[in-house]
Amino acid sequence: MRIVLMGPPGAGKGTQAPRLAEKINAHHISTGDMLRAETAAGTELGLMAKKFMDAGDLVPDQVMIDMIAAQMATQTAVGGPGADTEPGIILDGFPRTLAQAEALDEALQATGGAIDAAIMLDVERDELVRRLAGRATCANCKAPYHLTFSPPSKEGVCDNCGGNLVQRPDDQPEAVRHRLHVYDDQTAPVLDYYRAKDKLTVIDGAGAPDDVFKLLLAAARR
Ligand code: ADP
Ligand code: ADP
Ligand code: ZN
Repeated sequence: MRIVLMGPPGAGKGTQAPRLAEKINAHHISTGDMLRAETAAGTELGLMAKKFMDAGDLVPDQVMIDMIAAQMATQTAVGGPGADTEPGIILDGFPRTLAQAEALDEALQATGGAIDAAIMLDVERDELVRRLAGRATCANCKAPYHLTFSPPSKEGVCDNCGGNLVQRPDDQPEAVRHRLHVYDDQTAPVLDYYRAKDKLTVIDGAGAPDDVFKLLLAAARR
């Protein structure tokens, strides 16, 4: 199973993808998490990407395409090509442009594979803004929180591991406005790309996380 999880910033991709990955035995590949790990490690790639990310702009296509190709190569090696137990993949945050979607299809075709489904979490704009304004993440285990909707039991501290909760620089209001615009402009066309191939399922992402997860699982098993 190779699934692309789509949706605007704040739709719930990062909250749902790990749950789905565990349930259907797939690797969760988040390009945003990969980029933030590079930034935290202070690599050349991370420092270059940080400028784009903090401004709410997309990192250049070729950088992302090379990054995802390298990542998928290691995952295939781990699973063993063609093995019965070969785990699936859930892509979260990639592809974000038509060029990325096309490059992904070409790379998969070369190995005889394809994307099985693209699932979009649909959430209205005002709710996205509320979600991003309160988003907080554990700096240690990456567990997702919302300061109002799903706060930790002790302020600023992760329930799972005791790590510090942090807010992202690109979740500041000005960067959020810009990211939503970038989404409409560059990422929304990717939905049409999968729709034209009859691979797109749009699900309602507005409900509580458990309800959204049920819809997501049903769409993934369709
Ligand atoms: P994305 O990865 O799509 O940008 P996240 O999964 O990080 O989105 O979610 C953004 C914020 O909204 C987080 O603070 C998260 O805790 C919260 N959130 C996620 N799903 C829901 C939901 N169904 N209802 C309310 N808040 C949610
Ligand atoms: P969100 O939670 O808002 O959906 P992500 O964590 O997926 O955001 O991505 C954060 C930032 O990382 C993006 O705003 C962008 O700068 C960069 N990024 C992540 N994935 C990609 C991609 N596929 N192409 C270009 N830039 C990306
Ligand atoms: Zn934690």
